[in-house]
Amino acid sequence: MDAGSRARRQELLRALPSVDQLLKLRVSQDAVASLSRPVAVSVIRRVLDDVRTQLLRGEPQELEARGDAAREEAGNALGLDATAWEQRLEEAFLRARQNTLIPVINATGVILHTNLGRAPLSEEALEAVRRVSMGYSNLEYDLAQGRRGSRHTYGERLLVELAGAEAAMVVNNNAAAVLLVLSALAAGGEVIISRGELVEIGGAFRIPDVLAQSGCRLVEVGTTNRTRLSDYARAVGPETKALLKVHTSNFKVIGFTESVPARELASLARSHGLYLIEDLGSGVFLNTEAYGLAHEPTVQEAVAAGADIVTFSGDKLLGGPQAGIILGKRELVERCRRHPLARAVRVDKMTLAALEATLRLYARGDVDKLPIWRMMAVQPETLRRRAEAVRRMIEERWQEAGETWEPGARAFLDVVESRSAIGGGSLPGETLPTWVLRIRPERSAVELAEALRQQSPPVIARVEEDALLLDFRTVDPADDRTVAEALVRALGGRARPLA
Ligand SMILES: *Cc1c(COP(=O)(O)O)cnc(C)c1O
Repeated sequence: MDAGSRARRQELLRALPSVDQLLKLRVSQDAVASLSRPVAVSVIRRVLDDVRTQLLRGEPQELEARGDAAREEAGNALGLDATAWEQRLEEAFLRARQNTLIPVINATGVILHTNLGRAPLSEEALEAVRRVSMGYSNLEYDLAQGRRGSRHTYGERLLVELAGAEAAMVVNNNAAAVLLVLSALAAGGEVIISRGELVEIGGAFRIPDVLAQSGCRLVEVGTTNRTRLSDYARAVGPETKALLKVHTSNFKVIGFTESVPARELASLARSHGLYLIEDLGSGVFLNTEAYGLAHEPTVQEAVAAGADIVTFSGDKLLGGPQAGIILGKRELVERCRRHPLARAVRVDKMTLAALEATLRLYARGDVDKLPIWRMMAVQPETLRRRAEAVRRMIEERWQEAGETWEPGARAFLDVVESRSAIGGGSLPGETLPTWVLRIRPERSAVELAEALRQQSPPVIARVEEDALLLDFRTVDPADDRTVAEALVRALGGRARPLA
């Protein structure tokens, strides 16, 4: 940077307005009234910091562009003219008024997207949450006896019926379920697990670490691709307390592989007086083959095969709220309930209400009311029609806008075949046929994706090979128009189709 522009930058930095000057602007006064003075001041500080950082990074174009005339006209020492500051502050105040956890539109086609909140809840689940949470509930109150009851029994009757188990309890998530089960049933002893099942589920959840955390010693047997019953049998010793089977829910080993079916492990465990604990990951009660997917082991199958305890998530293929479900032998579930960790991983009434309502839909055979199964069942032809309709909406908007378009803001739109993923540590590698709206912008697809994320509500799409792909399988049909409008804005409003 030459000396001239450095001096110019210093001058701009010095010319930045003070917090007090900005506080006098009308937007700021409104914000003081609606957000309180301290919040308004901290938002103003943040905006000032951002502008200062931009200047230091050498992005004074915007400031330069406004020119001295505009600043003088504004009659103050602002680095930008007053209107520009008002605009920046308005946006920042708007964000400060919003919650930080907000809805987004998932146009990735990944049905159980862990980063986007996994399973969307059903109307029934939401209604149950509302009824139980707006007022008081019998969360820990025994209505028959008129005294303290236990929250650890809600959902139990339905879970037990659906799974064919003796008892069940619900905790915060499946990671907590595994931790609690191992702590309650195997602490101080050895737990045998196949080397092919020492999985990492994402983030900090790694099976060996969870075992260590729960005070168990890990005994690995077999190899990455093959483990036999005899491997387990040889490893059993006086310290062994349990065999642990973990569903490899987020990857697939193909080729020369072998693992031991739960039924055989169960009989080995029984003959040595050990527990067979099975972490199913994604608990599913229905047959995934009916949706054109591979067979995902069901909860009923795991129980019938003889696992003493089965754990799984509430928000994967169950389609309910974030929760961890522990079910199996009554005496063992009781031990989990009595363990001190149970208190640390207990669930809230909202979760219990949503989970019970979700389970009831399975019990009634009303799975079409669960958004995830509805999305799985949508026919590719329907998705193709929706993608075409959105493409037409965008093109109509372009036509209305007339012939003016900004160079570099053009895009080529078409609708092509693709695959929707299941995601969320369920059915690894399994996909469903779909059609996507493909947008190949003259500018970068990555930038377009970013612009889409900045819309309100944000739209999340996939980028593949310089193209932006929108899969409507995971979009509520009521949001199709919103997506079209977000795209028009993200493309710059005046974008035109590439001929
Ligand atoms: C997803 C998963 C977990 C973790 O479940 P959360 O409900 O996300 O805590 C644990 N084990 C397996 C096998 C999983 O697939």
